[in-house]
Amino acid sequence: MILRLLLLLAAVLLWVFWPTATPLKAPLGSKTASCDQVILWRLDSIDPAFGLSPEQALPLIQNAASRWNQALGKEVLRYDPQQGFPIRFVFDARQQQQLEQLMLERNLHRYDDRIADQQQDFERQLAEFQQDKSAFEQKDQQLAADISLFNAKAQQADPGAAALLGREQAELLSRQKEHALEAEQLDALSEKLQDRQQQLNNTIADRNALIPQQQASGLAEVGLLEQRGANRTMTIFAYKDDHHLTLTLLHEFGHALGIDHLADNSSIMFSQLNGSQQDLTSADIQAWRQQCVQAGQR
Ligand SMILES: [Zn+2]
Repeated sequence: MILRLLLLLAAVLLWVFWPTATPLKAPLGSKTASCDQVILWRLDSIDPAFGLSPEQALPLIQNAASRWNQALGKEVLRYDPQQGFPIRFVFDARQQQQLEQLMLERNLHRYDDRIADQQQDFERQLAEFQQDKSAFEQKDQQLAADISLFNAKAQQADPGAAALLGREQAELLSRQKEHALEAEQLDALSEKLQDRQQQLNNTIADRNALIPQQQASGLAEVGLLEQRGANRTMTIFAYKDDHHLTLTLLHEFGHALGIDHLADNSSIMFSQLNGSQQDLTSADIQAWRQQCVQAGQR
């Protein structure tokens, strides 16, 4: 997603959908703000398709505005339902894309949880199997040793010991039978383990099949601040959640305050919305100070 400032001098505004990243346009003529100017804003309209009421949206916008005021230590943005510049929520394919993206992310999280569970389960069963297998192998060796000992004794034994040997032989035969049963159980467990592994691989494959879908959802503008002379308009096209919307509002308010894009990707005024942005940074605040000094020099 790209937050891009387009300052249009033309009267006609076209909503252009950019499927790929395009070079950033320098925000020409935006440096009209001064450090003492208070910019008024108002909530103009919200497309009902957003499912967002003005009562829900207004506190979010107010929060973004007051974060700027707090960060700059003075009131630079003020809510004014009559005189303020309009903020509009315009619904189009971009918000649809955001919703799909959000669903996909939730889906991926669910898969990841399932994979982690299955993996844990598999590893636990594998450890049990390996323990059983090594116990079996030990028994196997012991039984083989006992049988060969018995055979040696049987060869040397005198007829008087026949009864004793017969008991020992019966015991050995019963152990052998039990041992064969354990071997079958181990085989069954091994097959079950293979099934589990297959199941795990299938889940991973299903999860990975979702990923190209995620990458295919391209970059789109989620917010826009237009300025013609002293007239500003903010348009919000898309947001994933309240945090995402707040970041977009902070960014567009930043443009309203005359700030250009910054190179630091954790700053709110970085050109693209990303995971490392949390709140206004010292770079954002510094950029405002710099631009109002420059504006004051004109
Ligand atoms: Zn921007």
